[in-house]
Amino acid sequence: MNHSKRSILITGAGSGLGRGLSLWLAQQGHSILATDLHPAGAQETVAQIKEIGGTAEAHGLDVTSEEDILAFFRDLGERRVDVLVNNAGLQHVSRVEEFPATKWDLLMDVMLKGTFLMTRAVLSRMRTQGFGRIIHIGSIHSLIASPYKSAYVAAKHALLGFSKAVALETGDVDITSNTICPGYIRTPLVDAQIKDQARTRQISEDEVIQRIMLEPMPKKAFITFEEIAAAIEFLISPLARNVTAQAIAIDGGWTAQ
Ligand code: NAD
Repeated sequence: MNHSKRSILITGAGSGLGRGLSLWLAQQGHSILATDLHPAGAQETVAQIKEIGGTAEAHGLDVTSEEDILAFFRDLGERRVDVLVNNAGLQHVSRVEEFPATKWDLLMDVMLKGTFLMTRAVLSRMRTQGFGRIIHIGSIHSLIASPYKSAYVAAKHALLGFSKAVALETGDVDITSNTICPGYIRTPLVDAQIKDQARTRQISEDEVIQRIMLEPMPKKAFITFEEIAAAIEFLISPLARNVTAQAIAIDGGWTAQ
């Protein structure tokens, strides 16, 4: 096979970072399995990839559903999946005292259990191929905490532990497991948060952007899709075979403080 062109499965590919990564990686010649809870979002991502001459397929896939995951991999047949990007995620901003238990469960189910279910489902295929790269989209909140994001912070911290356990279990084969930890990226998830934070903290949306989001980042700029995609390009290359169990922060220096 051509080592520079990979088959990349991305969850939550119908919006924000998942769509941005799908487009950028397709532009580099990789073929994309764009999956999302909302099939229409994944289909729109694929339409945009096809417009630039790339290769992609859209699939509806709820990462919390074992049934969906089983059906998805069954439908793929013997096809390769070289790279899994566990990207699906969501946020809920609330004080712990008011945090609804159902929201807590949902965030954990999507970002932690969903990551486990997807990883479990892809591993035997990667072992048979003799190659695999598993990339979890963590966050600066895998490394530090912020108030009002308890479930998100807990799930993203836990991802690091899960990623390390997978790395240890795949030490005998050319499979790696790593977590990319971005600072703020301007996506629909962050746009919603700007509104939520303004309400919770009773400040203006512009103050949320300047004081809460950009102020703690020494570089004072949102992270871009391309910057995350470039890290993925490195991780999926043969030369990154010994980079495993790592947390790679792309955060404008945020977590140095
Ligand atoms: P987004 O809301 O734009 O996109 C999230 C996608 O995940 C949506 O398309 C949604 O449909 C999908 N999704 C939600 N539940 C799902 C499920 N059960 N099964 C499958 N798909 C599901 O958000 P985003 O900002 O693009 O976030 C993507 C990832 O990046 C998340 O894991 C998020 O935590 C992480 N992240 C985002 C930022 C940021 O600043 N935007 C920073 C660090 C990390």
